[in-house]
Amino acid sequence: ATIDLDRERGALKEIFGFDDFKPLQRQAVGAALNGEDVFVLWPTGGGKSLVYQYPALTRPGLCVVASPLIALMRDQVAKLRARGLPAGALHMDQDAAEAKACRKALRDGALRLLYVSPERLGDPEARAPLQDAGVRMLAVDEAHCISEWGHDFRPDYGRLAEAAEALDRPQIIAATATASPRTRAEIAQKLFGGRAPRLILGSFRRAAIALSVEACAGDPAGRIARLVAARRGQCGVVYCATRRQTEAVAATLAEAGLPAAAYHAGLPAPLREARQDEFLRRSDMVMVATIAFGLGVDKPDVRYIIHAGLPDHVETLYQETGRAGRDGRPAEAITLFDPRRLAALRDARDEVGRIDAASGARVEALTRYVATTGCREQALLAPLGETCPPCGRCDNCRRGALGTAFRVLRATPDAA
Ligand code: ADP
Ligand code: MG
Ligand code: ZN
Repeated sequence: ATIDLDRERGALKEIFGFDDFKPLQRQAVGAALNGEDVFVLWPTGGGKSLVYQYPALTRPGLCVVASPLIALMRDQVAKLRARGLPAGALHMDQDAAEAKACRKALRDGALRLLYVSPERLGDPEARAPLQDAGVRMLAVDEAHCISEWGHDFRPDYGRLAEAAEALDRPQIIAATATASPRTRAEIAQKLFGGRAPRLILGSFRRAAIALSVEACAGDPAGRIARLVAARRGQCGVVYCATRRQTEAVAATLAEAGLPAAAYHAGLPAPLREARQDEFLRRSDMVMVATIAFGLGVDKPDVRYIIHAGLPDHVETLYQETGRAGRDGRPAEAITLFDPRRLAALRDARDEVGRIDAASGARVEALTRYVATTGCREQALLAPLGETCPPCGRCDNCRRGALGTAFRVLRATPDAA
């Protein structure tokens, strides 16, 4: 039977307080309610969780959600519980009483959504209580963690397909905001065990973000300090290539009296957490970070992202620029690059492209983003497999518009 989503709207309102499904949710929830495996691929903030939460809460049976971060699990479970919904989590960082209560609810069949780490699902002993309870649906959140090419690779995600088989192969719902066609193919292949899922693919355009690129030779710290000073009172992230550079840039900003802190995987965990908490709490702080900062940081009012240099992948650039403007209000993503590095990259592209086509394509995509005189959003999305009209917001689009204005000005005296 086909699912009539209009008839589900009452339940949607009652359970989640939402008036309607978003268009992509309609397709995805419809397929999920139909019992299909679904692969949900659209940007952060688009409401991917609903695709498994809604079926889990309106149909019988247990949905197990694999999630890569305890903080993400906590956040989701707290939101569901606040609405009185039967959700729980089992992870390493909870006290015995909490875990016991969750196990009991599981045994009593009182849970509909159970969040667990992929480690737990991969461990036959830890998995046994789930097997006993019977799992109807396995949701894999942040599914790109399965990809060895991605930047958030988690080996335990690689064992989820095996775990699904051990759990009598429940329906699988996978969700990610990573757009790369390569990662997409890897997820489809590794997770669904040869059974092609229904793919629900959204657009990766980001209407709030104005992309721009600036040549900056030598040490970019001074330039970054000026960019940050001009945005004083706003919240931003500066991405650096190395731990040392995060410390150096943060020090330069602090000397200039700007509220900045460094963040990288080499800092002790309590310090890292304290800085992240402060960043989340304040609306005027600058985090100077390596790639280690970001997954699970969903701060709506980040107004700008600055890249101190080019990352290694366009995909990384895409993910990191996307941490700005989540509230939908205008935001900026400024990429600084050293022209010498661009020249080196171009040489490498010609060299490497002959040896390794994939690396050649990666370098090509990066150089094109920097060197294009056309729309940056087009250049950013093309390697991710998406074509779009010019954004109208990036430096090149604005320059183009300005060029038109100048031609009009020049034309006026002649016409008079
Ligand atoms: P994603 O996982 O795609 O980043 P989430 O599932 O975390 O997105 O949802 C993002 C936000 O959108 C949440 O605050 C959620 O409550 C809200 N949301 C989801 N679906 C709807 C809807 N149909 N109507 C209104 N708000 C929604
Ligand atoms: Mg999500
Ligand atoms: Zn543009």
